[in-house]
Amino acid sequence: MINFNVPPYTGNEMKYIMQAVEAQKICGDGQFTKKCNEWIEKKTSCNKALLTTSCTHATELAALLADIKPGDEVIMPSYTFVSTADAFVLRGAVPVFVDIRPDTMNIDENKIEDAITDKTRAIVPVHYAGVGCEMDVIMDIAKRHNLLVIEDAAQGVMSTYKGKALGAIADFGCFSFHETKNFSMGEGGALLMRDDKYVEAAEIFREKGTDRSKFFRGQVDKYRWVDYGSSYLPSDMNAAYLWAQLELADEITADRMKSYNRYRDAFKELAAKEQLELPYVPDYCEHNAHMFYIKTANLAERTELISYLKEQGVLAVFHYVPLHTAPAGIKYARFNGTDEYTTKESDRLVRLPLYYNLSDSDAEYIIDKVKQFYKNR
Ligand SMILES: *Cc1c(COP(=O)(O)O)cnc(C)c1O
Repeated sequence: MINFNVPPYTGNEMKYIMQAVEAQKICGDGQFTKKCNEWIEKKTSCNKALLTTSCTHATELAALLADIKPGDEVIMPSYTFVSTADAFVLRGAVPVFVDIRPDTMNIDENKIEDAITDKTRAIVPVHYAGVGCEMDVIMDIAKRHNLLVIEDAAQGVMSTYKGKALGAIADFGCFSFHETKNFSMGEGGALLMRDDKYVEAAEIFREKGTDRSKFFRGQVDKYRWVDYGSSYLPSDMNAAYLWAQLELADEITADRMKSYNRYRDAFKELAAKEQLELPYVPDYCEHNAHMFYIKTANLAERTELISYLKEQGVLAVFHYVPLHTAPAGIKYARFNGTDEYTTKESDRLVRLPLYYNLSDSDAEYIIDKVKQFYKNR
């Protein structure tokens, strides 16, 4: 069986975890957490990055920093993972979904303005498959309407939009280091901040509402409860695991890109014959080969393809069930405008196995089986 995902592993993880253990500092904000934060800051040119326990928690932190209140509205695509919406629903806000573009599967920037009301506080673009949303347009809308922008860059580590790192373009960016992402610590993430003004508040929210971060820097002589907050800092053992991957980020990305390009090249002919559709990447977006998907003709064909591949020992998957059609989406959110593409395009999409060190022979086998499926039609 060829798995859909194998968590990335470079070989240095256990060595670094042992170093964290030997330093007798396995709680949060140890040496490896600092290395990871600095790596993100350097790589993305954001002002400050803080490792968190997940991307979900990074988004919760962003919602706290944005001071999202009950009744506020937050604009986002419906075609996304639940966490994008959850973080704001937890603050009592209403996610307002707008349609996606059928080409990139990202939020349609031209449909955002129509969804703005006097309750709108923020826009949350999701960089699907590590391909950047139209950030110039989105940032301009936000500026004109005085809204904050929070990038869900869970899938976008190492990707750029017009030369700028995803996650570092807007007010806040959220990375995921879940085991299904390009770089992993099991469960984990990071909050990226563009401006200095949020850093102190972020440290406080992340550390149970205390000024412990200041205390450790020697800026105050005891740490106290100064605001509400929660616990969003990961153990340094997890950060040690992540460090082994960030250190080799170029190598991991190059390897994923090799598999991505192999798929893309192999299916060019089928795409030219319009039997399937390939992912579209605007030429000013540099992606990170987070995923490779194809689009089938319709839902029935996708169901057949997935079950055919399974019979052949290949696990291919689809996602997401659009949030506005899910029970919690109906309860907590609303869709602005018409769902022209969200449901239709998500029904057609299927992801093929893509992970660090996917072998050439496995990739060739998968390609062969997909081609076989279309030959028999
Ligand atoms: C994976 C993912 C998340 C959640 O990440 P966690 O680290 O598991 O919380 C959020 N948004 C998107 C688009 C994702 O792909």
